Amino acid sequence: HSVTNSFVVTGANKGIGLAIVKGLCKQFNGTVYLTARDVSRGQEAVKELNEQGCQPRFHQLDVSSLDSIQRFKQHLEQEHQGLDVLVNNAGVMYGRSNPTPLVEQVEVTMGINFFGLLNLTKALTPLLRPHARIVNVSSGMGDLSHVTPELRQTFQSKQLTEQELVQMMEQFVSDVKSGVHEEKGWKMETLAYRVSKMGATALSMVLQRQFDATGADVVVNALCPGWVRTDMGGPSAGRSVDKGAETPIYLALLPPNVSSPRGEFLRDKKILSF
Ligand code: NDP
Repeated sequence: HSVTNSFVVTGANKGIGLAIVKGLCKQFNGTVYLTARDVSRGQEAVKELNEQGCQPRFHQLDVSSLDSIQRFKQHLEQEHQGLDVLVNNAGVMYGRSNPTPLVEQVEVTMGINFFGLLNLTKALTPLLRPHARIVNVSSGMGDLSHVTPELRQTFQSKQLTEQELVQMMEQFVSDVKSGVHEEKGWKMETLAYRVSKMGATALSMVLQRQFDATGADVVVNALCPGWVRTDMGGPSAGRSVDKGAETPIYLALLPPNVSSPRGEFLRDKKILSF
């Protein structure tokens, strides 16, 4: 019996995620999942795409909830017995002048942008089919110019393991809680968001090394979509959501056994240094 390919996009009820789902539906023959943490917002978005001739499927998925991740995993197992593409797009950002206490900003932002991405990816890894692609929507705001040389070196190390990265990110959260993060080298504006994206980019590289070690043709890349007009990017951003979706879609559809990009950070389909 034939197994249909399945694509998953997180945080897809609006913004860049919604544009990625639309683009994938148009370019790809298979099942595209529009997932969202809020069922009614997600179903509204599906309706909107239906009116434009696209037929994504909907499933609830809150990347910060292990229960929600498990329910979605079971659904994929039962319906598709596997997964071909995972686009980790869901993300949150507290703006520079947001009055929310820093500890809360860090817990929420890291819980979604880093640990949510990690937990979902690890949960779905056993379902990945040969030539699966993982696309992590990160950000140029996670560039390493804002951290100390020591932290930068750790992030960039080709020997960095998943365990070490997770430990580093957990330590960051606990340093913020005890108020010692600045002396540990984490001193910058929009701190929570920037560190969460540094972690997301570094994780993409770490995971690529893990897959390479098994010999599987699973490709993991991170990208910056540029400054995009969404609720997060605001109305002054120069790019449309369709433009912002171009590099994620390109990375989702990389051909089998592609030699590059693998484990890279890209903007506008070009590899940047991290
Ligand atoms: P939006 O705020 O428009 O959309 C973010 C999406 O993520 C929403 O669908 C939101 O759902 C969802 N989301 C938030 N938390 C969760 C969660 N726990 N589980 C599942 N979904 C969740 O932002 P963008 O479209 O601009 O951002 C998409 C990605 O692009 C993000 O990762 C962002 O960091 C990145 N990015 C954006 C840039 C820009 O200029 N816009 C620049 C660089 C990177 P809900 O509607 O329920 O809140």
